[in-house]
Amino acid sequence: MSNQIVLTGDRPTGALHLGHYVGSLQNRLTLQEKYECFILIADIQALTDNFDDPTKVKFNVHQLLLDYLAVGIDPKKTTICVQSQIPELFELTTYFLNLVTINNLERNPTVKHEAEQKGYDSIPAGFFIYPVSQAADIALFQSELVPVGEDQLPHLEETNRIVRKFNRIYGVDALKECQPILSETKRLVGTDGKSKMSKSLGNAILLSDNNDTIHQKVMGMFTDPKHQKVNDPGDPNNPVFEYLTIFHPDKNYIEELKSSYSKGGLGDVKVKNILSEVLIELISPIREKRIQYSNDMFMMTQILKSGTETARQAAAPTIKNVRRAMHLNVLDVLG
Ligand code: ATP
Ligand code: MG
Repeated sequence: MSNQIVLTGDRPTGALHLGHYVGSLQNRLTLQEKYECFILIADIQALTDNFDDPTKVKFNVHQLLLDYLAVGIDPKKTTICVQSQIPELFELTTYFLNLVTINNLERNPTVKHEAEQKGYDSIPAGFFIYPVSQAADIALFQSELVPVGEDQLPHLEETNRIVRKFNRIYGVDALKECQPILSETKRLVGTDGKSKMSKSLGNAILLSDNNDTIHQKVMGMFTDPKHQKVNDPGDPNNPVFEYLTIFHPDKNYIEELKSSYSKGGLGDVKVKNILSEVLIELISPIREKRIQYSNDMFMMTQILKSGTETARQAAAPTIKNVRRAMHLNVLDVLG
């Protein structure tokens, strides 16, 4: 066991999808065997763009937990905790807000891109500063390793900028810098072939989808628009082949398929049927486990309660050091 701490998180905005599976869940399964791991269910971050729909966020806290358990995240090895129940995080966010500039946040390409996708006339302040709250999530747990998809890299850079500034200004080494752990698939494209697969964009194949839904979603996937007839040469540089390359166990077979698709003579429907079969095989056992766990609401609440308690205990020494470094220990008799 290494003494480095791993923290990851997900926003409870929907059930998890294939992008999470390859972008972060698989890594988490390996990491929980070697490191002390925390998974933060980021419900406060989810509210930044869903503040008008809190019941959706609450519902999805449990959906996330079911996905974790179904893929094999083990609450005995990984502490699963809920952001809204850890007040130390809001405290650290407030301190961190002094250490970032509006210019820096405006330059963050992920925030920029997401704000454009949401079509804001004027960006809500809570949404604008979510990378700062994410920095607090990472720093509070002294996390040095953060398994993420590519879209999160600007946030990790911001986190390290804040941590360095904090340690410099307050003359301590109270907080640790972190580094990303990127998976082989840093960014899985959505079924629309345009943006990254995302819970909020309706372009995702979920780990909880039933077989018919998986099949329908695959059949509706974007391919090469110029590949009209079976005999036309097609460009395998499209999401269907991208998924096949990632999820099909036989890589040579996929290379052969790609070359017949390029030459012409291989139809989209055939390729999509192959993909649909592979994905059904991958997702079915996950979905079945998920259904079993979903009958035990008591167990789910216990996992979240005990994980959140453990997380608060782990955070206590850091927040104490932070307050001391910032001379906020005014009520402490010994100073
Ligand atoms: P939302 O649309 O609500 O932001 P999301 O699908 O982007 O949801 P998050 O909860 O924001 O999911 O992300 C959780 C983690 O999963 C992050 O580390 C993120 O980088 C990773 N991730 C999300 N989508 C993908 C993807 N398509 N490919 C690879 N990694 C991904
Ligand atoms: Mg996201």
